[in-house]
Amino acid sequence: MLMTGTEYIASLRELNTRVYLFGEKIENWVDHPMIRPSIDCVAVTYDLAHQEEYADLMTVKSSLTGKRINRFNHLHQSTDDLMKKVKMQRLCGQKTASCFQRCVGMDSFNAVFSTTFEIDQAHGTAYHKNFVEFLKMVEEADLVVDGAMTDPKGDRSLQPSKQRDPDLFVHVVERRPDGIVVRGAKCHQTGSINSHWHLVMPTQAMKPEDKDYAVSFACPSDADGLYMIYGRQSCDTRKLEKGADVDLGNKKFGGQEALVVFDDVFIPNAYIFMDGETDFSGMLVERFAGYHRQSYGGCKVGVGDVIIGAAALAADYNGAAKASHIKDKLIEMTHLNETLYSCGIACSAEGNQTKAGNYQINLLLANVCKQNVTRFPYEIVRLAEDIAGGLMVTMPSEADFKSEMPVGRRGETIGEICNKYFAASADCTTEERMRVLRFLENICLGSSAVGYRTESMHGAGSPQAQRIMIQRQGNLEGKKQLAKAIAGIE
Ligand code: SF4
Ligand code: FE
Repeated sequence: MLMTGTEYIASLRELNTRVYLFGEKIENWVDHPMIRPSIDCVAVTYDLAHQEEYADLMTVKSSLTGKRINRFNHLHQSTDDLMKKVKMQRLCGQKTASCFQRCVGMDSFNAVFSTTFEIDQAHGTAYHKNFVEFLKMVEEADLVVDGAMTDPKGDRSLQPSKQRDPDLFVHVVERRPDGIVVRGAKCHQTGSINSHWHLVMPTQAMKPEDKDYAVSFACPSDADGLYMIYGRQSCDTRKLEKGADVDLGNKKFGGQEALVVFDDVFIPNAYIFMDGETDFSGMLVERFAGYHRQSYGGCKVGVGDVIIGAAALAADYNGAAKASHIKDKLIEMTHLNETLYSCGIACSAEGNQTKAGNYQINLLLANVCKQNVTRFPYEIVRLAEDIAGGLMVTMPSEADFKSEMPVGRRGETIGEICNKYFAASADCTTEERMRVLRFLENICLGSSAVGYRTESMHGAGSPQAQRIMIQRQGNLEGKKQLAKAIAGIE
C-alpha cells in the first residue's frame, strides 16, 4: 500500500508520541506551527510516489514481497537502484529545499539487512530473519522509520562502558526470556518525531567489554518509556508569529531534529537485530555511514539547485544579472553543486553486492562525497550571500511592509515607505524581491541552515570521520607499489 501525504499525516495522529518543546509537553504536535513544516516535508516523499512522472524514481518492486513500494523502504538490488536513490533524493531536495528526513530509515535498512546476515553466519544467531520480517511490515504499511545512530557519547576519550554516566550510550539494562530493556538516548535525530518506528544502531565500533552497548533493535515511536525533546532552530519562533509568511523564507517545508530518550524501553525478541556482538558494531556503523554519505550527494544537491535558482533570481531582481562577475559566480555555484552530484553517482555506480544480496556503495567514494559536502555548500552559500546583498539580513519585517500606519509627511504608510525604498527592478514587485531574499536568509543562516549548511558539516558524520575512512580505504601501500614500479625501486 502506498500512502498519500494526507494519509501519512493522519497516521501520525494515531500515535501516542511524547514530544516536549520549550519545557512543555506538546499534545497536538502534528499541528504545531514549529513542527508542522517538517511533517509536510516528509509528506512530499509520499505524494511524489503517486505522480506518474516520478513513478520510476519514487517507487520500485520490493525484493522481499514483489509488491510496489516506496523507494525509501527499498533494499537496493543493483548499482542502478543506488543511482536512482541519489536521483530521488535530488528530486526531493528540489521540491522541498529542505531535509525530507526519510533517508535515515532507508540507509539503516540496507546496513542492518547486510550486517545481520553476516552476524548470523558468524554467531549462529537469527537476527536477519527478525529484520526481514520487520522490514516487510514497514514496506507493506509504507511507514517512516528513524534510523537512530548517534549517541550523546559523553567524554570522547572514554569508551561506552568507561563513561561516568553509563547512559551516555544506549545499552541493555536487563535481559528477560522474552526480550531486553534498553536505556540511553540518541541525539540530533532527524525526523524522529514524525517517524512511525525507530531503528536503533550502535554509534561506534565497540570492544568486548562494551557488550551491553552493542545493541540494535526496532521499536514504535510511542513505545512505553520513549520520549523526545525537540531541537530548536535559528529563527524558529518566526513560525509562531501571527500570519507568518514572507519572513519564513520557506513557509512550506523544514527539517527537524530531536533528542530521543529511551527510559527503560522493553524490546521483544522479534525486534532485536544485535545484542552483544561487539565484533560487528563497527561494520554496521561503517555501512550505515557509507549509505548516508552517499545520500548527501543527492539531497544537498537538490537543495543546492534551489539556492542557485534563488541567487539568480535575486540578481535579476536587483538588476545585476548581466554583470560578468554575477554570471561567473552562478557558474561556480553550479560547478560545485554538480561536483557533489558526481560523487553521489560515482559511489553508486561503483557499488557492489553484499553477502546478504543487497547492494552497497563504494565506501571510499561515498566518504569522498560527504567530505566535499562538508565544504562546497559553505562556498555555495557564501556566493549566494554575495549575489543577494546585505538586504537579506537588514530588511524590515513583513509586518512593516504590510503596515497601514501613517508615517510620512504626505500621509504615506509604513508599508508604502518600505515598498518605495526597497523597490528594485521593474520586473518584480517588492514583495517578490523580499520573498527570494528571505528564502536565502532562511537557507543560509535561518532554520533551514540546520538542514543545509550546518548539516552538511556534521550530518552523516563530521569531517574527521570521513578522513579516517578515506585513510583506511585509500590503499596507500598499493600506491607506493605503483610509484616503486615506475621509479625502478625493488
Ligand atoms: Fe535525507 Fe539529506 Fe535529510 Fe539526511 S540530510 S535525512 S540524506 S534529506
Ligand atoms: Fe542528515
